[in-house]
Amino acid sequence: MIRIHKSANVPQVLVNKGIPATDAHKALYDANPAVYKQKYHKVNNPFKLTFDSKIYGNANVKNQLKDEQFNKCCFCENKDFDDIAFGDVEHFRPKGAYQQKANDTLSYPGYYWLAYEWTNLFFSCQICNQRHKKNRFPLVDQTLRSVDHHAPQEQTSNTLLAHPSFENPENEIGFREEIPFHKTDKGKKSIQAFGLNRTKLNEKRRKHLVEVRKNIVLSRMDLSTATQDQKDQIFALLGIHDETFLVEIINTAKLYVDQAAKKEAAFTSMVRNNFPALPQ
Ligand SMILES: [Zn+2]
Repeated sequence: MIRIHKSANVPQVLVNKGIPATDAHKALYDANPAVYKQKYHKVNNPFKLTFDSKIYGNANVKNQLKDEQFNKCCFCENKDFDDIAFGDVEHFRPKGAYQQKANDTLSYPGYYWLAYEWTNLFFSCQICNQRHKKNRFPLVDQTLRSVDHHAPQEQTSNTLLAHPSFENPENEIGFREEIPFHKTDKGKKSIQAFGLNRTKLNEKRRKHLVEVRKNIVLSRMDLSTATQDQKDQIFALLGIHDETFLVEIINTAKLYVDQAAKKEAAFTSMVRNNFPALPQ
């Protein structure tokens, strides 16, 4: 995870439709707060707050999130996965109900007043959102939880998941090779809740790390000091016969390495931890 800098330019649908929908939820809640604190037993429960995915999941919202996050999951930093998955518009503070721990029963209501709130929305992959984070929103001190829209929002010092834009997740989570480690208790809870140490993700990061290393080696190759024998060995290894092509490969590697630790790249945080000297 790296810090995401969201623009102050709120998508119009969140203003035109999101604000009236939020006001309607606040009015419903205020008319009868006690019923919204109960578990919903049936789909047809008249007191269930329903949320309109056509507002928070509107294409304009999703596309702006993707742009501002460089087409990466806000949690795992997988990039450009649109070829195999749609990706979710994720509510950092869960809208319908919340859990302090993974196996807790759901507590109601959720952060219904943030369902259409721009600062609470992020683009994420389905695995991070649907299999791991789900409705989790643990706090250090649960007595200070914002139970409704009248309560002040919890301070980041009281939250146990690293917020992708209100704070810098790189202060909470580091990487040794492809494996994440926690620097703080918030980092530990974040790795667990977002599933950042899952096997398939580690394998994918491992491959990426090897790719970065390979490009670093290529980018530092100095043909001016290489003997013809050395060049011939490189030609054979790469299956090429032409120095012009090798120069092109080296230049491409230099460009790749220059970008690898920047916020636009895949798995930026892991790359920065392993190669702190790369330009950021
Ligand atoms: Zn993810």
